[in-house]
Amino acid sequence: TTVYAQPGTEGSKITFKPRYEHWIGGEWVPPVKGQYFENISPVNGKPFTEVARGTAEDIEAALDAAWAAAPAWGKTSVAERALVLHRIADRMEQNLEMLAVAETWDNGKPVRETINADIALAIDHFRYFAGAIRAQEGTLSQLDDNTTSYHFHEPLGVVGQIIPWNFPILMGVWKLAPALAAGNAVVLKPAEQTPASIMVLMELIADLLPPGVVNVVNGFGVEAGKPLASSPRIRKIAFTGETTTGRLIMQYASQNIIPVTLELGGKSPNIFFEDVAAAQDSFYDKALEGFAFFALNQGEVCTCPSRALIQEGIYDRLLADGVERVQQMVQGNPLDLNTQVGAQASNDQLQKILSYIDIGKQEGAKVLVGGERNVLDGDLAEGFYVSPTVFEGQNSMRIFQEEIFGPVLSVTRFSDYADAIRTANDTLYGLGAGVWARSGNLAYRAGRDIEAGRVWVNQYHNYPAHSAFGGYKSSGIGRENHLMMLDHYQQTKNLLVSY
Ligand code: NAD
Repeated sequence: TTVYAQPGTEGSKITFKPRYEHWIGGEWVPPVKGQYFENISPVNGKPFTEVARGTAEDIEAALDAAWAAAPAWGKTSVAERALVLHRIADRMEQNLEMLAVAETWDNGKPVRETINADIALAIDHFRYFAGAIRAQEGTLSQLDDNTTSYHFHEPLGVVGQIIPWNFPILMGVWKLAPALAAGNAVVLKPAEQTPASIMVLMELIADLLPPGVVNVVNGFGVEAGKPLASSPRIRKIAFTGETTTGRLIMQYASQNIIPVTLELGGKSPNIFFEDVAAAQDSFYDKALEGFAFFALNQGEVCTCPSRALIQEGIYDRLLADGVERVQQMVQGNPLDLNTQVGAQASNDQLQKILSYIDIGKQEGAKVLVGGERNVLDGDLAEGFYVSPTVFEGQNSMRIFQEEIFGPVLSVTRFSDYADAIRTANDTLYGLGAGVWARSGNLAYRAGRDIEAGRVWVNQYHNYPAHSAFGGYKSSGIGRENHLMMLDHYQQTKNLLVSY
């Protein structure tokens, strides 16, 4: 198996700069207040670079640069912008392993995922929106003999974007690609836990974008995120993060009457109907794999299938086989291509997950596997690893209702179809859901009855750029991906013309 070298060591794909300043107006700009913070790799728990600690003054400088760039960028032809997006995608593809290792080191997730999912999807995302913007058309209608009504798409101008730490590059690209395709300039604030990999991307594509079209200011939520989200100089704020922060973002935005898109938390049900176990075949095998998907990306996925609902008749069998599958998952050095479960993104997150594991035990839920920190050997001993954990309990428990954002699965049983849907929907959230059933009829019905923006049927964790993604209920507002995303980054101009 391939094990990538640690960044900065011999043969490694990437050497991080010792210090990252802000990326403003196409160059590195030191923070106005001169402060930096340490960036720690979850892989070994050690600092590896320091990053500018942004404040309102840095946000202002980034907004100046963005407003200086926005008019010209907004007037480029869609063909020109599409070409830029294609070039970014190509550059990323040529440097895929470098970006993947950078992302793994910053976030702790395994390289097999950053190579095959995070960076690969980010590349495709740029290509999708390069195509989408060229295919978009306005409308024209003849209202009467003398009046024509035209609808045009116009960019918003400068938009703000704030992202979390669980998919730093991919979440950045999900927001950047449609915003740029639509002709906007951007000020982006990454999460303070994972500030470095997105700067590596900025450096990589620096020569492909006009200066100021994308600006990245690092820093903490209230210090850097709030001045961005509450600035009267942005025309939209796009946010991905926790539901509680999402509420604040809406409040800030209300002061300036600007649109928000919010991609927030989840507590997604994964429903297994009795007929999945009709035979010991590849279908059943796929369902078992789906059961274990909660541990992918260390459970740090907003759509993590963190509640498994299993029908009475197959409960014992599927749970036993599922737990065995979880035990087989390989947790270890994230730089090893063989590793399936890596490190949690930060020590805070590690502690939060461990405290939820305690809460589950106190609530009387039964631990079937895992339930503790995993201390790896050698120089990874200080890394932030949690063993994939399966609890058995009831949907009313806190571990079934609150987002843990770790490799922790809560399993319960249901009797019939109505019970399944009731339990699945008994949550504040409505982001993702999984349905496993051989009967197409049953799967379709359940897919329609579950209150969630994305339901996977007989699959999970698939994020194609051309499928709309977003939340019902407290999981958010608006959609990302798909053509409809362009609407979130454009104004409609109507021109009524008489001759
Ligand atoms: P978070 O809300 O703590 O932080 C997200 C970002 O918001 C960070 O950049 C942070 O610095 C910034 N921020 C914090 N307080 C702020 C404030 N007052 N004003 C402006 N910005 C502020 O979330 P997190 O812990 O980084 O991310 C995990 C959460 O993200 C989970 O709830 C997860 O479900 C969610 N998430 C959702 C999706 C989705 O598409 N729905 C995708 C990934 C993650």
